[in-house]
Amino acid sequence: YIILFFQIFVMQNSLIGFIGAGNMAYAIISGLINNGIKHNQIKISDTNKALLSLRKTEFNLEVFTDNTKLAIQCNVIVLAVKPQVLSSVCKDLKNKLAINTLIISIAAGVRSRDIERWLGDNQAIVRTMPNMPALLNQGITGLFANKQVSDKQKSLAENILNSVGECLWVNDEGLLDVITAVSGSGPAYFFLMLESMTKVGAALGLDEAVAQKLSIQTALGASIVASSSEDSPQQLRNKVTSKNGTTQAAIESFQDQDFEVIIAHAMRAAFNRANEIG
Ligand code: NAD
Repeated sequence: YIILFFQIFVMQNSLIGFIGAGNMAYAIISGLINNGIKHNQIKISDTNKALLSLRKTEFNLEVFTDNTKLAIQCNVIVLAVKPQVLSSVCKDLKNKLAINTLIISIAAGVRSRDIERWLGDNQAIVRTMPNMPALLNQGITGLFANKQVSDKQKSLAENILNSVGECLWVNDEGLLDVITAVSGSGPAYFFLMLESMTKVGAALGLDEAVAQKLSIQTALGASIVASSSEDSPQQLRNKVTSKNGTTQAAIESFQDQDFEVIIAHAMRAAFNRANEIG
């Protein structure tokens, strides 16, 4: 209870500024507000004025077109711009941040030491890899803290990302690129699977809408079973695969066509791309 009280206290005394008001910022801000963070504790800045006014109406937040003006008022800054613009955004903030400002970056692939170099040395930085189901509070975020981050700041970062799902810390920053390949890009792999299952269901005679519904509900059901069962995914698969049955026919076809190799190539491509961005 003492820890919980401390965390609530830390959150209630924070001013959180988002630089970049796009999709991920929207998801995290929604989560924070749903978890009781007050509107006047969150500020956003973006170069897109139309988007800013939309966010202002949606969330009733103070908005800025000048990142520096936002940054000097906040003790936590979430960098939620695309990786390609991050260096110029950071360089503009150099020497303008208050001491003890915590930087949380959600940009894929960009190393904390580069952010540190652009912002100025000794900056506390938590680099994270959230994912898109954050939108519905079902995200999972990998986090890495550089050595300047205090325990208090670590729990602050964790509380912010916990408002949109689960959190998982890594001590080796390189693992964030692996997390990118697994969970950061992962939702799209499942969407692709849903697309394919829907198409084939329709080709075999179902209405496309029906095939889509069956596919989505099956993925949801399988995920819920996998996350609540003591069995591993492999054990679960074995349990639902009767000898010489329909499922076995499908699984054998996947395996004959090197399903694992296809997945490995795809995930290594995501991993390598994350490496290249950095
Ligand atoms: P997005 O394009 O929706 O949002 C980025 C926003 O940054 C835009 O609104 C843009 O106008 C704004 N912007 C551009 N230049 C700016 C500047 N100089 N100052 C202030 N704002 C500026 O992108 P997104 O999907 O929200 O992704 C944001 C970050 O989150 C990316 O770095 C991405 O790698 C990371 N990320 C995204 C996902 C995902 O599933 N979308 C998952 C994990 C991480």
